[in-house]
Amino acid sequence: MAKGRIEINEATCKGCTLCTIACPQNVIAMSTDYVTVRGYFPATLVDPEGQCTGCALCAVACPDVCITVYRQVSPKVRPVQAAV
Ligand code: SF4
Ligand code: SF4
Repeated sequence: MAKGRIEINEATCKGCTLCTIACPQNVIAMSTDYVTVRGYFPATLVDPEGQCTGCALCAVACPDVCITVYRQVSPKVRPVQAAV
């Protein structure tokens, strides 16, 4: 399965929680110990086991385009040519 990670722009996050609902891996949580300068508890990636797949559903769900998704792409492996 593909590996991914996200970055959340906390400056624009309004703490609506939509990304936490959208994530099939349940690796996004709402911060509870600090607020942004706008007074919101921001979303944050909590993924100690690297379960984010880079599916981008969180980014699609975010109404404020706060989430950037990075997905690791595996290099294609070419079949070994048999010597003739
Ligand atoms: S890219 Fe997919 S798996 Fe990763 S945090 Fe977003 S919704 Fe979850
Ligand atoms: S969907 Fe966007 S605005 Fe809402 S909590 Fe997630 S990152 Fe913040």
